[in-house]
Amino acid sequence: MGEFVSHLESALDGTRFEKDQLLTMHRDRPLWVRYDLEAAQGAIRVDRWAQRPPTMWRYEELLPVPPGVEKVSLGEGITPLLACPQLGEQLGLKHLWVKDESHLPTGSFKSRGQAMALTMARHFGVRRVAVPTAGNAGGAMAAYAARAGMEAWIFMPEDTPQVNVAEAALAGARVFLVRGLITDCGRIVRQGMEAMGWFDVSTLKEPYRLEGKKTMGLELAEQFHWELPDVILYPTGGGTGLIGMWKAFEELRTLGLLRREQLPRMVAVQATGCAPIVQAWEQGQRFAQPVQNAHTVASGIRVPAAVGDFMMLDVLRESRGCAVAVPDEEILHWTTKATAAEGISFCPEAGACVAALKRLVEQGWIAPQEKVVVFNTAGAQKYCHLFPVEKLPRLDPGQEIDWDRLVATSWPGQQRC
Ligand SMILES: *Cc1c(COP(=O)(O)O)cnc(C)c1O
Repeated sequence: MGEFVSHLESALDGTRFEKDQLLTMHRDRPLWVRYDLEAAQGAIRVDRWAQRPPTMWRYEELLPVPPGVEKVSLGEGITPLLACPQLGEQLGLKHLWVKDESHLPTGSFKSRGQAMALTMARHFGVRRVAVPTAGNAGGAMAAYAARAGMEAWIFMPEDTPQVNVAEAALAGARVFLVRGLITDCGRIVRQGMEAMGWFDVSTLKEPYRLEGKKTMGLELAEQFHWELPDVILYPTGGGTGLIGMWKAFEELRTLGLLRREQLPRMVAVQATGCAPIVQAWEQGQRFAQPVQNAHTVASGIRVPAAVGDFMMLDVLRESRGCAVAVPDEEILHWTTKATAAEGISFCPEAGACVAALKRLVEQGWIAPQEKVVVFNTAGAQKYCHLFPVEKLPRLDPGQEIDWDRLVATSWPGQQRC
């Protein structure tokens, strides 16, 4: 195992597990990978991290990959941290950044988790992986499975965006469209596990995707020179990003690598049509209730039930953060507005974060001079189906153009979506 991994541990009740084995969950709840941070402390030098190639793998002392094990990688580069003064001004903030995860292979941050999960699964001898997914996880899983030489089985609701269906199929996965919801897809994967010999790489159903997502937090800390921002907004579905980043911050703090002990306030952003975590947060519950008829244009956060619900709620509590739900109209409005303001290719999930940010600034929960980071978890290109291109004005090549009319019928995207 990773040089400094000590053991694995149930997130629910702390039960310990030996590290050198293929593990999934305990009592249907996720496992943490634990490190001997004292031993790691002696080995880690941040200046040495900085000298390594700029990829998510540079933090190897805090990753589970055993020395000498070949990584399943498509080149997961450190993603840009972009200052956003224009969008910041529109929202009333002086210090706003976007961490732009759309630069990753397969166009979303899902790559981080799949690269790590499949590296570890292959190490433990897995040959066939399966996943229920409504979006980017399927495309990423298919690509990394191809890279790993594994067989990929993917079950998607019939209404999954065509881009996600196509990218999975193009990468050679066996793709099935299920006339039902993501939960129905999950049931098929569970039922077929024994007969088909599948290993389930669903969110938090194996322990290593989380370690891949953790690198978002490690990168962010390095990009901020080990002094973390005040607030982080994250579009929350299954929760790996939120939980993984918080795990990164706590490990860095324990290692004494942060120049400021105070960790960021974490904000979980969901869509009104599917907000189980927001609901549980507002009601002070330990676990979330599954959402019926979940719906939102932000398909990445259309997750009606999550096995890591209590872990997300712990992060919100421990970080003195909060959970916010925003309606689809606001999501679409801010997706186009933010993309037009900065030229960053915002996905609707990140648009939801901007909408939530606007509210939190207006409510005074975030002060104008605080340092704020929004995660752009994927690129807008994956969501072409949301933009009504068919409504754009048409011109004929020979047509005489009335320039006033041209101006009148022109259609700046940020005004209508
Ligand atoms: C999967 C996904 C999310 C939610 O991710 P979690 O970390 O599992 O909560 C957010 N945005 C996009 C674009 C996604 O694909």
